Amino acid sequence: MWLTELRTTPCDDRINFGGRDGASTTIRIGGAGVAGLAAAITLARAGEEVEVLEMKARVGSSAGPHTEGIRNYLGHDGLEELARFGVRVQPFSVARRTVRRSPRFTSEITGPSYHLVARGGGPGTLERQLLQQALDAGATVRFKAKVRPEEVSILATGAPRDQVNIVAAGYRFSREGSNLTDEEIHALFDNTIAPRGYLCVLPGPVWQSIYSCAWGSIEYNELLRKVDAALQLDWVRNLVGAAKLVGKIYGKGYYADDPYSTASQPGPLRVGEAGGIQDAVGGYGIQFAVASGHLAARSLLEGAPYVELLRKEFGEAFEISRRGRGWLDRATNDDYDAFLKKLGPTGTLEDYSKWRESRFF
Ligand SMILES: Cc1cc2nc3c(=O)[nH]c(=O)nc-3n(C[C@H](O)[C@H](O)[C@H](O)COP(=O)(O)OP(=O)(O)OC[C@H]3O[C@@H](n4cnc5c(N)ncnc54)[C@H](O)[C@@H]3O)c2cc1C
Repeated sequence: MWLTELRTTPCDDRINFGGRDGASTTIRIGGAGVAGLAAAITLARAGEEVEVLEMKARVGSSAGPHTEGIRNYLGHDGLEELARFGVRVQPFSVARRTVRRSPRFTSEITGPSYHLVARGGGPGTLERQLLQQALDAGATVRFKAKVRPEEVSILATGAPRDQVNIVAAGYRFSREGSNLTDEEIHALFDNTIAPRGYLCVLPGPVWQSIYSCAWGSIEYNELLRKVDAALQLDWVRNLVGAAKLVGKIYGKGYYADDPYSTASQPGPLRVGEAGGIQDAVGGYGIQFAVASGHLAARSLLEGAPYVELLRKEFGEAFEISRRGRGWLDRATNDDYDAFLKKLGPTGTLEDYSKWRESRFF
């Protein structure tokens, strides 16, 4: 097998990064987030010795407990797509009613638009599910183990601190007293509340979430104040009802303009947000993290260049996203109104998928 040869006859310094020099037979991965665990699952299932090094004391999104959605409107089922990359995910719910708002318009889509997963590291969360699959496959996960890039073969350490270009801020709130049901989600496109991004209100199995995702550079506290303003909007007040705010959500992300170039950099294979392999339009990084983790693992197993596997999988997707991001970066609230008006007050998931395929930007 190619890996065996690699151990004795190194032929690619980049892939040999992290001790794959003949002395060690263990493949080291930095970061036990979505991308790192997806890579570990693929490698361990192929019979490789895998060690995942995680700086925190346990798995769990740095943003704290919150809800995320796995998109289900891309022409295939979101969970089947993850399964294609070797990862099985059990959501806690499916959003069947998706309400999008702009300052003046509302558009409601009926149909299973997102599989909803809890993040944060507690029982049943996405990261706990992936951790279990990695351990079952035979991977070792070490906690409180901070790595440097040169110490690993796969770098899955999330958004680089100095390259953050997506910020999330908000609150989790109690289920008790809330009027939000488990099968509905809400989003608001309004630059005064979520500059260049959106505010979302999402159910959760333990906590529910309200947070704004903003693109560009914005201070966390400034964004949180915008969420405070959103909490005064009538429709938000109706959803949150008598629920109590029980904690803050803080997140950061990174999308690269050209992930193929970060994937070609010397050093370890950069997966997930460590390589900016993220959806520039909406920040839906789970699918990109799983896919890139899996493809980096395959690159090591098969000897195929990582960037070529990425290109084969994603083709022009990043370029299309980049154009969409350009549109969103310039969009005004009037543009959001026009966009929602065009979507219409009601529609089905099929309508939305078709409309999205026609590339609104
Ligand atoms: C608030 C919020 C909401 C989101 N909503 C959605 C959504 O609805 N749908 C969606 O698809 N995506 C969503 N995303 C994006 C998605 O969560 C990320 O794109 C995805 O989790 C990135 O995975 P990753 O493995 O690249 O990075 P991470 O999940 O950040 O994992 C990186 C891991 O590496 C560890 N680490 C960091 N540095 C080191 C080091 N030096 N040594 C060892 N370990 C290290 C970290 O502790 C962490 O565990 C959201 C993100 C946030 C913050």
